[in-house]
Amino acid sequence: MALSPGSLADLPVPNSGARVQAIRVQSPGGPDALRLEDLPVPSPGPDQALIRVEAAGVNFIDVYQRSGLYPLPMPFTLGKEAGGTVEAVGPGVTTVAVGDRVASESVIGAYAELALVPANRLVPLPERVSARDGAAVLLQGMTAHYLAFDTYKLGRRDSCLIHAAAGGVGLLLCQMASRRGARVIATVSTAEKAELARAAGAAEVILYTREDFGAEVQRLTKGVGVTVVYDSVGRATFAKGLECLRPRGMMVLYGQSSGPVEPLDPQVLNQRGSLFLTRPALGHYTATRKELIERAGTVLGWVADGSLQVRVGGEFPLGEAAQAHRELEGRRTSGKVLLVP
Ligand code: NDP
Repeated sequence: MALSPGSLADLPVPNSGARVQAIRVQSPGGPDALRLEDLPVPSPGPDQALIRVEAAGVNFIDVYQRSGLYPLPMPFTLGKEAGGTVEAVGPGVTTVAVGDRVASESVIGAYAELALVPANRLVPLPERVSARDGAAVLLQGMTAHYLAFDTYKLGRRDSCLIHAAAGGVGLLLCQMASRRGARVIATVSTAEKAELARAAGAAEVILYTREDFGAEVQRLTKGVGVTVVYDSVGRATFAKGLECLRPRGMMVLYGQSSGPVEPLDPQVLNQRGSLFLTRPALGHYTATRKELIERAGTVLGWVADGSLQVRVGGEFPLGEAAQAHRELEGRRTSGKVLLVP
């Protein structure tokens, strides 16, 4: 996991008395735990930058942090992803300068007008990529990238099952997997989402809320199974996903939007055909500045040249963060959800 958000209120402040609006969590809970508050403008400490947020990305991890599933010291400002402009830099910062257009997935409280970021986690935006698009694609785009290129190197001989394929990561992963030549079998909850998944490159789409996706995968692969399952849904799909794999296939469990999975007896991996299981996280695939810049540069380059489509399915004013969370958790969103201060 990446860096933990701290508290804007705990950080050193300039004497100007200027205030900033931010979405704070005082104690874990549902969407109503998100409150718009007025805070002093923080000054960047050593190796930090202060950015003016043009758009903040809403990600499912924000839900886990708000609800307490991933516990954080309270109170804190929510949000990890933003695009914007560098407003000030702290001592020792050499990677960015005031005025640079940047995005990051390691923001210390991105749901705010101004936010602090470790300067070495800031990514410069190409000329043709807006700060809004940067916020819309960075975290989920780099996730799709490492899943399709590194966790498992998809190729022409592969078939993969992508759950929640019309979601933020899902639509990007469908595009990257199909571009690598893999046959993409997607699951989604509605006919509208099925259209989006198809347009993103899915060869087959299963409505997993109405059909038995395990039986459908067996039918579509003539009983062979897929080489990889990309599972971000967790509890509701994990066990059946193992049954969809061919021998020596790989289960990539990278999220848990329906809840955490039950403990697993490793012997099951043997019985199902010497399967591989991994539970990856973006932080481990962008651990160094070199890897962060390379991965981000590739994804942003595709956005700049139009070869990767970024769908913003919902845009909310900062003060409506709670509603944005209700929509995301209620499975009513597709593509990216943004907050605009
Ligand atoms: P999504 O846009 O994919 O939203 C979640 C989707 O999950 C919903 O739209 C819904 O799609 C599906 N879903 C299925 N069951 C449920 C449920 N019970 N409650 C809510 N949603 C459900 O979100 P993100 O793209 O932000 O994230 C997708 C997943 O990827 C999350 O689990 C997230 O934690 C994970 N993730 C992991 C990363 C990593 O490095 N490990 C990095 C980034 C994200 P449908 O209606 O089609 O069922």
